[in-house]
Amino acid sequence: QSWGLKRVPFISQGCSSANTHAQDGGRFRVLTWNILAQALAVSHDNFVGLPEGTLDWAARRLRILHEILIYDPDVICLQEVDHFNFLNSTLSSLGYRGVFCSKPDSPCIYLANNNGPDGCALFYRRDKFDLISASSRVLEIWRVQSNQVCIFANLRLRDTGQQVCVATTHLKARQGALLTTMRNEQGKDVSNYLISCGSLAKPLILCGDFNAVSTEPVISTVKSRLGVKSVYGKLYNGEEPPYTTWKVRADGEYRHTIDYIFYNKFCDVESLLRIPTEEQIGPSRLPNLSYASDHIAIACDIRLK
Ligand code: NDP
Ligand code: CA
Repeated sequence: QSWGLKRVPFISQGCSSANTHAQDGGRFRVLTWNILAQALAVSHDNFVGLPEGTLDWAARRLRILHEILIYDPDVICLQEVDHFNFLNSTLSSLGYRGVFCSKPDSPCIYLANNNGPDGCALFYRRDKFDLISASSRVLEIWRVQSNQVCIFANLRLRDTGQQVCVATTHLKARQGALLTTMRNEQGKDVSNYLISCGSLAKPLILCGDFNAVSTEPVISTVKSRLGVKSVYGKLYNGEEPPYTTWKVRADGEYRHTIDYIFYNKFCDVESLLRIPTEEQIGPSRLPNLSYASDHIAIACDIRLK
């Protein structure tokens, strides 16, 4: 069943949109997606007007998997994961290996019928990469631990032997001057952490839900400290996409671009995943029976220089 999703609508820059995996020297596909924690979706988010059955976990979990696998990624970075065991067991059987880091005080655990804390997860294809090291960090704001985390993995491409650093994070949500400042402090901490992991001297991909539009200080902080650019900012008509999340809550409609893939000077971007149109998303917005989360999966093909 296709659930209305079309296969691999990548915008290419002179390369095939098919992912050719192991034989493809120095090239790999990265996907990042805030998959919408099930406990938050049901009891916290206050979505209105969802098509009936949108949040039924027995089917939604298959739509999440389908939406990941349809893009055939080599590296999968996920946020708001409150069902890591399900994803890990299914993705493991399909050739991936995953690591998970939960938020220290996840809002999920206070909600009815929760499945434990949510957090970030990072998966890589075992036939494509060897794991050199992986670690995680609870992000600090003014040297005090916050409720947000970052996962770092140093991977080695099996075909060329090249190393690449991949990291994913999910920064503090919500609007307001203090929250903007807190996100910026988290961006500084993410940058210091990745620098301490040695990522300035190696290819680096940093992706996730930064909960910040491109004009927020945290985005320029991360770009300048890590020497990274946004994949979509470079190739998507020279701008960030018009939205990476689009939802209706009781207090209104929310449409923002807050999810990013950043890359440094040791990487070239070859293609990226097209953002679904308003028509594809549909009038009830996200999530729905085609798109499992209120965030859109974004993905790109990277070639190491
Ligand atoms: P964040 O403020 O970072 O947000 C937590 C989640 O809420 C995110 O995944 C975010 O999704 C989502 N979210 C953002 N905006 C809204 C909105 N307007 N309505 C509903 N959900 C939204 O959380 P922290 O981890 O820093 O934890 C703080 C929050 O957790 C508190 O606001 C509180 O609600 C809850 N909490 C409750 C506790 C309790 O009941 N005792 C204890 C601890 C936490 P996205 O990133 O996609 O925007
Ligand atoms: Ca959310």
